[in-house]
Amino acid sequence: MTAPRTSLSGAVFLDLYGTVAREVGYINHPDRFRLQDFSGEAIRLLNRAGYRVFVATNQSGIARGYFTEDVLNEVHRRLVDRLAREGARVEAVYHCPHLPREGRPPECDCRKPLPGMLHRAAREHGVELASSWMAGDMITDVETGHLAGARGILLRTGYGRGQIEYQRHRWRVEPDLICDDLLVAAHAIVAALPQDQG
Ligand SMILES: [Mg+2]
Ligand SMILES: [Zn+2]
Repeated sequence: MTAPRTSLSGAVFLDLYGTVAREVGYINHPDRFRLQDFSGEAIRLLNRAGYRVFVATNQSGIARGYFTEDVLNEVHRRLVDRLAREGARVEAVYHCPHLPREGRPPECDCRKPLPGMLHRAAREHGVELASSWMAGDMITDVETGHLAGARGILLRTGYGRGQIEYQRHRWRVEPDLICDDLLVAAHAIVAALPQDQG
């Protein structure tokens, strides 16, 4: 059905806060940004297995006026630099600056769980979404992956434990995997590769 090594054109999309970085509320100053200890190792592992890694993050604080696009760009620059110093490569950081619109049609196609950021990465970087994964600490991250045709992993870091222990009855999708953190998820993704190539 698929050509050999087709999974190598797949990518891993990562939520930012509660996933790659600590969930600390709105980052209205770059110094509030904290990378998780295991993120460098996790992303390095994915890179070595042939996966390109992208970050996809909702940033409604822009639309709310809590911080500017300049502050956000500085935070994302630090994210990419710090990971690079650990030998971990992130191809691009995508963000949705728009507001949630509870019960009304969305004003954009990029606020997760809508899959606009993944579609954009697919267009701009030639990513094969069917061979890709999305991992995050919210069930909406899993939903984003599924809407894009990718697999979805829910992590127990950040809001994940609460999502799993108290919100499960409200889930509209079921995660392909539930993992303790991003490093465990990276190992699981790499371990799944041979099946894809068979
Ligand atoms: Mg998150
Ligand atoms: Zn958006």
